[in-house]
Amino acid sequence: MNFKTFSFHPQIAAGIQAAGYSTPTPIQTQAIPKVMQGRDLMGLAQTGTGKTAVFILPILQRLLHGQRGRVRALIVAPTRELAEQIHQAAETLGAKTGLRSVTVYGGVGIQKQIQLLKSADVVVACPGRLLDHIRRQTVNLSKVEVLVLDEADQMFDMGFLPDIRRIISHLPRPNRQTLLFSATMPAQIRRLADDILKNQVRIQVGNDAPAETVSHAFYPVARHLKTALLLKLLGKTSTEAVLVFTRTKHRAKQLDGKLAKAGYRSASLQGNLSQTRRQDAMNGFKSGKYQVLVATDIAARGIDVSNVSHVINYDMPATPETYIHRIGRTGRAENSGEAFTLITDEDRQMVNAVHRAVGVPVEQRTLADFNYHTPASTSSKPIRPRTQQQPGHKTGNQKNRRTAKGPYAWLSPRKNGKPRRSAG
Ligand code: AMP
Repeated sequence: MNFKTFSFHPQIAAGIQAAGYSTPTPIQTQAIPKVMQGRDLMGLAQTGTGKTAVFILPILQRLLHGQRGRVRALIVAPTRELAEQIHQAAETLGAKTGLRSVTVYGGVGIQKQIQLLKSADVVVACPGRLLDHIRRQTVNLSKVEVLVLDEADQMFDMGFLPDIRRIISHLPRPNRQTLLFSATMPAQIRRLADDILKNQVRIQVGNDAPAETVSHAFYPVARHLKTALLLKLLGKTSTEAVLVFTRTKHRAKQLDGKLAKAGYRSASLQGNLSQTRRQDAMNGFKSGKYQVLVATDIAARGIDVSNVSHVINYDMPATPETYIHRIGRTGRAENSGEAFTLITDEDRQMVNAVHRAVGVPVEQRTLADFNYHTPASTSSKPIRPRTQQQPGHKTGNQKNRRTAKGPYAWLSPRKNGKPRRSAG
């Protein structure tokens, strides 16, 4: 199958060619014809599946005809990065159409947005700033024909659902086409879908298994040796662009500092950054200025870098879905990638949950020349959560390291000292 099957207008076909797409991805094959028929859609798909083109291409096709310079398509996304990425896709795919896409998000001046909104055909917005424009009456949504809610589960996680419902109350109802994309289906998203979608088509892709182009492995390690193991792993592995995930923004910042100290060109992406610094981190990672980007899940939403060679979970994610999401950052489109996860004794439950979600046991590896028995005091300092033990109070690690069969026994390299498999 190729893109000709969809019979896009030549101006859009030119955009598809310019983007370098030759074969539609599975979700594109299944969903584009339905969206072009005007059907409402519930798309269960994670980032990396090609879902952006599923809505952008039919939107461009629809907007080619009819009046220009009024907002006829509204796309709502949880983060500025994702909004920018969608806008970029609209610009590339719609380069020859003359249609205008505008991004609307906070953290940047509002005046320029107000000017651009006066002649926009497509608006890609984050909820807060869009509501701001609605209140100021600087955006006219009365002509919206297509509404897209992208990464709806993330918007729910970030507390945006009331804002979303408020935004929807400002849109015309009759004949509106609504497309909702979500990687997971919490009850609240199901309810939202029931409320706003009419006679929906439901398409699910790649939600239960990671991309086949990603190979992944677990690296068991004691908690206090995580940073040391990460550095060793980075030193041994031939990497291009490495995305490292931590549980909190505090940990992201700290780890970024440690990587920089160890000589890596690294940056961190976390919620506290100014827009300029976020953009610098994103662009720097894209261009290769930074080799390692340390990020939290929320900050990393919308990262679209096709050359991420490695995703490393410094901290195990909280859900198997998030695991699959994270590792979906590598192995994008046709590239292959590797995903490493540092696991500690505390992660045992999640390790099992990930095994179940992935369907096969994830390979466990150890590094041959790494000292897994370094006691906490002489190893490089671990990054601890903010809630620290009182000084003098023994941590779990300290208590356990003297016990031959401590809780880390299941994580230890084999008794004969031979690694199960070492990283190349
Ligand atoms: P998305 O899931 O929409 O974020 O897309 C993931 C990446 O795949 C983006 O870099 C897209 O530009 C790229 N992509 C989308 N569709 C195709 C396609 N049919 N062929 C090749 N790359 C694609």
